[in-house]
Amino acid sequence: MHEDIIQFRHTLHQTPELSGQEFQTASRIIKFFSRFTPDNIYTEVGSSGVIVVFGKAEAPCVMLRCELDAVPIEEPPNLPYASCNSCVAHKCGHDGHIAILAAVAEALSLNAPKNIRVALLFQPAEETGEGSRQIVEDPVFRQVNPKMIFGLHNVPGYEHGKILVRKGTFCCASRGLTITLTGKTAHAAQPETGCSPASTMAQLIDFAENIREHTGLNNPLSFCTVVGARLGDKAFGTAPARAELYITVRSATDDDMLKMVRAIERETAEKAEIKGLDWHMEYSDVFDATSNDDRCVELIEKANSNRTVQLQSPFRWSEDFGVYTQHLPGAFFGLGAGITIPPLHHPDYDFPDDLIIEGANVFLNIIEQCKQVLSEH
Ligand SMILES: [Zn+2]
Ligand SMILES: [Zn+2]
Repeated sequence: MHEDIIQFRHTLHQTPELSGQEFQTASRIIKFFSRFTPDNIYTEVGSSGVIVVFGKAEAPCVMLRCELDAVPIEEPPNLPYASCNSCVAHKCGHDGHIAILAAVAEALSLNAPKNIRVALLFQPAEETGEGSRQIVEDPVFRQVNPKMIFGLHNVPGYEHGKILVRKGTFCCASRGLTITLTGKTAHAAQPETGCSPASTMAQLIDFAENIREHTGLNNPLSFCTVVGARLGDKAFGTAPARAELYITVRSATDDDMLKMVRAIERETAEKAEIKGLDWHMEYSDVFDATSNDDRCVELIEKANSNRTVQLQSPFRWSEDFGVYTQHLPGAFFGLGAGITIPPLHHPDYDFPDDLIIEGANVFLNIIEQCKQVLSEH
């Protein structure tokens, strides 16, 4: 592999951009990938997305996806290529995922794909869960017309280069709920003249923390985390009028997600009405479950038989790749980043450069398998 690709990863690392703002990253990719003389480059897909295509237009297409965005974390200054942007850093290794696709592109440029088209997708805004929806809604995605899609994530804490696979759910669904309760303020000496959301807020915290009991769900991966709450102010003369409650809901299936969210909505409406409170609920960071196609998982295993490990249960974190597998067959898999590597989103985490070639080889093996499978259709 070319030393330039490692250098390219370091440049991306130095110039990270947050979700939805990855325009500079996209133009760096367009410039860097041009050297591999692809057959086509689509730009501004979704928003700042890029699709780089190798192979003839009539051949069936396999798509490989990576992400463009960094996370809002301050990076310590010890790396020679540390982030130049304050409080933004590539702490999820998306710079490494881009470099993996650069190594794939290099291989494809030396050995042009026959009977298959390979589309490399660079997706914005993964961390907020918005990017994959923007991509599939762009007519260019339909025009490229992928028949299968694959994506990977590096996973610290697992042996370097191991391939982690799972049929069905690979990563959990999750979403943030903000519940706002509004009543009427009063003098603290006469709280009965106002309408305080305090006890309703407490009831809803308890309801969320015991959500499985209230919904009859028994999957231990379906649960709520109360991540924050605000009620009134430190003003001892005033009874509060307003409360906000922040809950992260997580589940192994989209079905469980819907049941839990509906139950919280019903409970909020009911309890707010009893007290005469206004209520409002807002969703953010909405991720569907990443659900893998069985045959695509088997294809990954067959392509890389000596290195795959089957996961017993899905990862609890979320990933917006699930949007693609709602539209076409595909699979998302993990690539062990090493046992001693700091966890994702940790300030000391950095994508290991020696994983670039490992990831590229896994993808190239998958492309070989896809050639056989797609030419049968
Ligand atoms: Zn992340
Ligand atoms: Zn990530």
